[in-house]
Amino acid sequence: MAAGECRKKLSTTYIMVAVIAQIVLGILASSLSLVADGTRAFSDHLELFRYDRSAVPSKRFIEIITVAVSSIIIFVISIIFLLTASSRASSLDFDINLLFLSIGTAISLATNTVQMIGHFHAWRSDPVYSLSIYVKTHRSRVLHGVLYHILAYSILVSSILIIISKNFLIADCVTTYLISSLIITNVAATSIKCYQEYFSLEIARDEYESL
Ligand SMILES: [Zn+2]
Repeated sequence: MAAGECRKKLSTTYIMVAVIAQIVLGILASSLSLVADGTRAFSDHLELFRYDRSAVPSKRFIEIITVAVSSIIIFVISIIFLLTASSRASSLDFDINLLFLSIGTAISLATNTVQMIGHFHAWRSDPVYSLSIYVKTHRSRVLHGVLYHILAYSILVSSILIIISKNFLIADCVTTYLISSLIITNVAATSIKCYQEYFSLEIARDEYESL
């Protein structure tokens, strides 16, 4: 197996385990931001889904439908996060377990770092496109890789605030808002890609653009 492929598999396995751990710890800690961040890590991973354009149309259709349904579910969940964060912010009637919050935050920071490093590796190994496309995608990729993932580190700030004093419980709601917005950017990008793949289904297989 090529080194790049092996690394990709390892990071996929790590991200899946980390997503489950983060969601479980988030529920145990009663931290909505932690649960939201686990979902964010998954939606960011889903955005990188590579469609197999050489597969037969029926298999490609299943791939597209699976990604589309997952995106819809993630979108609905992000709306639930926003509504729940609002109701929790208005009452502040919840408590957060600091031990589970600390462990979950540590996993979140590690996952976010793995994803960021993964993006930079993928960019370097990408084929050179025509200049206009390259510049265009390169810019949006830098925006995602730097801005998105720096914003995702905000969970560290909110967790530290909550650990310092329970008076900062509101930070959990604010971070949930921010993370839900990041999830929506992932869902938007995944949906656009999914839509494009769906319409390329109608093109005969030998006319697919080469990857
Ligand atoms: Zn990312």
